[in-house]
Formats: sequence, structure tokens, C-alpha cells
Amino acid sequence: MIGPKKSLGQNFLIDKNIISKIMNFTKVKDRNIVEIGPGKGALTDEIIKKKPKTLLIIEKDNLLFDSLIEKYSKFKNVKVVNADILKFDLEKKMKSNSVIFGNLPYNISSQILVKLIKFETWPPKFSDLILMFQKELGEKITSKFPSSKYGRLSIISNFRLDNIAKFIVSENCFFPKPKVKSMVIHFKPKKNTFKINNVSNLEKITNYLFSKKRKMINKSIIKILSKDEIKQIPELKTNLRPSDISPSIYFKITQIFEEN
Ligand code: SAM
Repeated sequence: MIGPKKSLGQNFLIDKNIISKIMNFTKVKDRNIVEIGPGKGALTDEIIKKKPKTLLIIEKDNLLFDSLIEKYSKFKNVKVVNADILKFDLEKKMKSNSVIFGNLPYNISSQILVKLIKFETWPPKFSDLILMFQKELGEKITSKFPSSKYGRLSIISNFRLDNIAKFIVSENCFFPKPKVKSMVIHFKPKKNTFKINNVSNLEKITNYLFSKKRKMINKSIIKILSKDEIKQIPELKTNLRPSDISPSIYFKITQIFEEN
């Protein structure tokens, strides 16, 4: 018997109350559902009980994939895929009116979130996104401006997603028990977003400016915008630090950067 793999972030949910709290966030019946990292199927079993129209589950671990195939092949509406979610073209496989669930592998959870935010078509085909992160990361994602946790992840998430609900999950709800608490967040895609051509530019700009988090932006902003372009944003004073700048100013910086 092979134990849970730390390298794949395998902490399996064992608390039924938490599973039903996650499921109660949104309607599943007759909808198209995607689950990232189903593991042994703790959430998957409950999704199936609620009679989705279709269910697509994506699991990287070969052994877990084999047992998921065995467990779910009798359900004609369930498709089990053995893939790395970071390499899988999920956007292409999405059906309209979808819900995406995921108790995410912690080592790549922010990369998975950014991948979903960077879908080419927006609003996307999913209307609900229900993901579990480590608590500290969840706090960064949902932090408001201005606050101590505010940073690049809150800006990028804020660009395309509203977080409408969240709750904390204790370490005791998993096997094996992780070292820290978790947070489940329910997101909805924003319909009207600021006009940015390529979200990767917002990602690059926030990554760059926040890499010098404690320094004033005077030296770094001139690598992104010319002096004249900086003047086009009156609120953008060069003695500010990255965390003093609101999301909408980051969106404006990206817009002007893209006009070049
Ligand atoms: N959903 C299950 C649960 O709640 O018990 C398992 C959650 S566990 C935190 C994360 C799951 O994601 C594991 O089953 C792991 O094998 C899988 N996983 C890890 N990296 C992955 C990747 N790159 N692509 C797809 N699945 C991955």
C-alpha cells in the first residue's frame, strides 16, 4: 500500500461537515461540473449524489487515476482524466454554466488560480469557482486594498473574480493532517472588467513591482512606463510603495503599458 504523496499535496478531506458546506455553496443538479485533483473522491462522491449533467475530474496521480476509473466508470456522465492540470487545456474542455471545484494541491494552488483567471474568453464558461487553499494564501487572495496582506494575488484575482463567501477549515479535517489551516473560497467571475488585452501583462507588472515590495516605486516604474506615461495617471506618485497602489491603478498601468 502506497501512502499519500507529499509532492502532490495529498491531504485528503475526511470531514463530512466540511464536504457538505462546500457542496452547499452552489447548485450542482443538471450542471456541468469540473473537479481539479479529486484524490480518493471525497468531494466527487457528493457531487455525483447531486446528479450533475456531466462531471469532468482531472487527477495527476497515476495510481489514484486507476482507482477513480474503477470507481466511477459505471457513471456515463463522469469523465476521468489523468493529467497535470497546469498542462491540461481546461478552457477548451469547459462547457457552459459550469462549476469548478478543487481542494487544491497546495504547492501549485496559486498557479492553478492564475491559470483559471487567464482564460482567453471572459466572462468564462464557469459561473462558480469553489477552491480550497492554505489559509494564509486564501487571506492574500481575498485581502482588500489597503491592508497588510494586499499584494499581487489580490490584484490579479480582483481583476476578474469576486469572492462572495469563504470559511476556514481546521487541520483535523484532513488525512494526513497538514501543518496549517485551510480556507475555502467561493468566487464568481466578474462580468464587466477593465479593458486589458493580455492578463499576463498585469501579472508581469505586479510581479515586477512587488518583487521590490518595501521600496518606493520610483526606480521600478520607469522600467514599465515612460515619464510622460506616468503623468497620465495623476494618482501614481513615484514615492509610493507597491502596496500603496490600488488595483484600479495597476489596471491603468497595464492598459497604458499595452498601448506602447
Ligand atoms: N479532492 C481530494 C480531497 O478533497 O480529499 C484530494 C485533495 S488533495 C489536497 C489534492 C489532489 O490533487 C491530490 O489527489 C493530488 O494527487 C492531486 N494533484 C496534485 N497535483 C496535481 C496536478 N498538477 N494536476 C492534477 N491533480 C493534481
